[in-house]
Amino acid sequence: MAAVNEAKSEKLQLDKKYSNAWEKYSKEDLEAVFAFNKGYIDFMSSCKTERECVDEFVTRAEKAGYKNLENVIAEGGSLKPGDKVYANNKGKTLAMFLIGSEPIEKGLKILGAHVDSPRLDLKQNPIYEDTDLAMLETHYYGGIKNYQWVTIPLAIHGVIVKSDGTKVSVVIGEDDNDPVIGISDLLIHLSADQLQKKLKDGIEGEDLNILIGSIPVEDKDAKERVKANILKLLNDKYGVIEEDFVSAELEVVPAGRAREYGLDRSMVMAYGHDDRVCAYTSFEALLQMNEIDKTAVALFVDKEEIGSYGATGMHSKFFENVLAEIMDRAGQYSELKLRRALTNSKMLSSDVSAAYDPNFPGVMEKKNTAYFGKGIVFNKYTGARGKSGSSDANPEYIAELRAIMNKHGVTWQTSELGKVDQGGGGTIAYILAEYNMEVIDCGVALQNMHAPWEVASKADIYEAVKAYKAFLIEA
Ligand code: MN
Ligand code: MN
Repeated sequence: MAAVNEAKSEKLQLDKKYSNAWEKYSKEDLEAVFAFNKGYIDFMSSCKTERECVDEFVTRAEKAGYKNLENVIAEGGSLKPGDKVYANNKGKTLAMFLIGSEPIEKGLKILGAHVDSPRLDLKQNPIYEDTDLAMLETHYYGGIKNYQWVTIPLAIHGVIVKSDGTKVSVVIGEDDNDPVIGISDLLIHLSADQLQKKLKDGIEGEDLNILIGSIPVEDKDAKERVKANILKLLNDKYGVIEEDFVSAELEVVPAGRAREYGLDRSMVMAYGHDDRVCAYTSFEALLQMNEIDKTAVALFVDKEEIGSYGATGMHSKFFENVLAEIMDRAGQYSELKLRRALTNSKMLSSDVSAAYDPNFPGVMEKKNTAYFGKGIVFNKYTGARGKSGSSDANPEYIAELRAIMNKHGVTWQTSELGKVDQGGGGTIAYILAEYNMEVIDCGVALQNMHAPWEVASKADIYEAVKAYKAFLIEA
């Protein structure tokens, strides 16, 4: 649908930057904001890995009528407008499609977010014993500040795949009756040398080792008796042996539930807002749609935090291949039509942005930063050192989007990640832009991004769903 002409309602001077969503909400709106965030908090409390997010989305999508594309193909089925279908890539990437009434070659409306988050992965040979303590070796995943991950309760989530192919799902540290694990820090009393180091060197990546046990196994002749005892516990509970860790994907994350944050409960503290806050809101927006003009897609990808490489990252051919299958099932496939569909598409690359933080004003340029409560954030570009590595969105596309947001009463703002030359970041936007589609980064602003516990505004989360839905209706 074409953009509406909003010229008459526009003010001469920009005040949008400073409108606070909380001030526009009626009593009913406020109830809706808090109710939506209650569901989000539950989701964030139980979905802490890419696999857990994909599993949860598949379960809920199926209830909403989405069919597995593999089954559609196996049964020789066809797809028609209004059909809902999903493709699950190795349990870690998910693409959901709502088939539109227009030919697919006219383009798609794509909401794309990532479901991996910074964390500590276990190494392949993780378990060792030192001075009667059992420990786990980790290798951090994504950009973290090492010192933030010590002396906090940690949990293990993931899978162990045995040599016979059976897969064991592991979650330890989330139930109130579960133990937690953790990484120690040096006592202040003996930190004279450590405190002289640069912040980044105070805790070294190789020293992010997790303490997991201290009781020796009964067998006095056994070697490394504490480690042996832990392996016995794991064997009793999961039927795994030490070699099984070689074929495991075990992720160490902050233990515990997401929480309401602030005395007025206006914010959410959670592990992994980046980027599950955009994934969840994109998912909810698509789920609310039942018919559409151009085919709608919600794409949830893995590996963004380590460069989007690999079979489950955005650089993979997965999405392109699945779109070919979809067009084939819809009786619309040709190589040329596939290319046209991609080129004619519009995308919101939904990822988080940095919220202004009164504790660290020095890294922000106040006129071009995002603020809590001021709605969904559009980042025309990301990158670093002169926008390098960025997909710089076209103003024609931004004009269309701002008209859509205004028409639907969405509170929105624009931002850069921080001051020029203060740092930078990237998203999946540039990868989809390689198809020559229109893409812009668009998401929720956070404090503490990439810390174990990140903070987002409930109003911004709510405005994100409204924005994604408005995009699906109008773009
Ligand atoms: Mn992100
Ligand atoms: Mn990130």
